[in-house]
Order: sequence, then C-alpha cells, then structure tokens
Amino acid sequence: QQNNIAGKVIAITGASSGIGEATARFLASKGARVVLGARRTDKLDAIVSEIQAAGGEARATALDVTKKAQLVHFIEFAQAQFGQVDVLVSNAGLMPLSMMESLKVDEWDQMIDVNVKGVLYGIAAALPVFKAQDTGHFVNISSVADRWVGPTSTVYSATKHAVRVISEGLRQEVNASIRVTLIAPGVTESELPNTISDPAMKKAAVEQFRTHLLPAEAIARAIAYAVEQPADVDVNEVVLRPAGQK
Ligand code: NDP
Repeated sequence: QQNNIAGKVIAITGASSGIGEATARFLASKGARVVLGARRTDKLDAIVSEIQAAGGEARATALDVTKKAQLVHFIEFAQAQFGQVDVLVSNAGLMPLSMMESLKVDEWDQMIDVNVKGVLYGIAAALPVFKAQDTGHFVNISSVADRWVGPTSTVYSATKHAVRVISEGLRQEVNASIRVTLIAPGVTESELPNTISDPAMKKAAVEQFRTHLLPAEAIARAIAYAVEQPADVDVNEVVLRPAGQK
C-alpha cells in the first residue's frame, strides 16, 4: 500500500466515538498504525479488534486528556508499541451548550479542561518527541465555532477560538520539520449532543444535527488529506461544513 499515510504512527485522542473513531478506522484502512485514547476503554477495545480483523494495525489505552501525565503516557505508549509517533490528532472535546445566565460553571470548567488544556497537554507531551525525531505533525480539531459565536455557544466558541490561536502560534514557532494543521468541522454526525445537559439546548442541537450533517468520515478524509501531503507541505487549516449549513 503505497501512500504517504501507510506506516505512519497516528495517535488520536477521543477515539471512542464520532470523529475520532472514524479517523482511526479510515487512517488504519490507509495503512497507518493508529493509537486510540479515550476514557471508555470498552469502546476502544471493540474498535481496535475490528480494525485488526480488517487487517489494520491499532492499539488502545485509557486516556483522560485533562490529566497532563496521562498524555505523556499516551505518547510513550505509542512509542513503545510502534517505535515512533508521526501525528498527534487532538480531537477529544465536549460541547455542553447553554446560556451564560444558566451559570453552568462546572461545564465551563470541563470545556476549558478538555477542549483547551487537553490540546495544550498533548502539545507538551508530543513536542519534545517530535523535536527529537526531527519530524511530527499536530492535527488539532477545533470547529467552525472557532470563528463564530452565538447564544449558548459562548464558552464552547471561546475554547475553540483558543484551539485555533494555539495552533497558529505553535505553527509559527516550530521549525519546518514539524507541521500543524487545524481542522474546523461544521455539524458532524457523532455523540457530541449527548454532552449537552440543558434539555431545551439538547433538543435544539439534535434538531440541527438532523437537518445538515457531515458523516464523521468526511472529517477523517480531511485529516488524511493533511497527513498525506509531502513533508514540505503544511496544510494550515481545513474548514468544512455540510452543504447548506449557514
Ligand atoms: P463525540 O462525543 O462522539 O466524541 C468525543 C470524544 O472525546 C469521545 O471519544 C470521548 O471519549 C472523548 N473525550 C471526552 N472527554 C475526554 C477526556 N476527558 N479525555 C479523553 N477523551 C475524552 O463527539 P465528536 O466526534 O463530534 O467530537 C470530536 C471533536 O470534534 C470535538 O473536539 C468536537 O468539539 C469537535 N467538533 C465536532 C463537531 C460536530 O458537529 N460533531 C463540529 C465541530 C467540531 P470518552 O467519553 O470515551 O472519553
């Protein structure tokens, strides 16, 4: 299987459902050696078994991205399994939409911890490895909310704006052996609406998710496009929405 994905070791956070799961399956089908992390290890183990049954190479380990040490372990695990890490896809995320006046402060904390600190801890864990290898690729999953805000999305949008800014700043700081890609999806099929605790917001999101929806594999294909470019091409940003989403 000759392509620029085959053989690469690709570590994916939040790989137990939605975009992360689809990315693991798709990249493995292209010959990547994928390493899956998330908290629901039963789901990870089932996905790994299916990838292996289809002839792919995959491993999984428990990962909570809010814990700095667990991201260090995640990268070390990938190295121990496959000898290197070529790509870190920082995908784990939550979207508990709500009005600010509802003061769901614990959910604000969770979004900052998972969506922002999780990405930063991934950079802290992988950057020294990428520098030592003299090659590496950060793929950070933000959202179209990284450039847009509306009622109920204030804190979520703030966290995704942060992911965009962190990615762009990192891109400018690293040397040419390290690439940084931001993927900004529109509405995509996944379990994300389940993270909304407010019943009215959840209903509205589920309705929206019903009208215009990208399959999670569409995001996987965008990630594959960035990964498969020659080493001297850095795809900086990909923004994709289902046709018809405003
Ligand atoms: P899902 O809810 O299906 O997937 C989210 C993943 O994140 C799960 O695998 C979950 O695994 C993982 N996760 C959550 N908390 C943690 C944690 N503390 N540590 C490790 N993993 C964690 O939703 P999506 O696939 O949609 O979400 C993936 C990314 O895509 C998110 O960053 C989201 O913001 C972004 N996105 C999604 C869009 C959409 O419309 N679906 C649009 C734009 C962006 P587990 O619970 O097992 O830990």
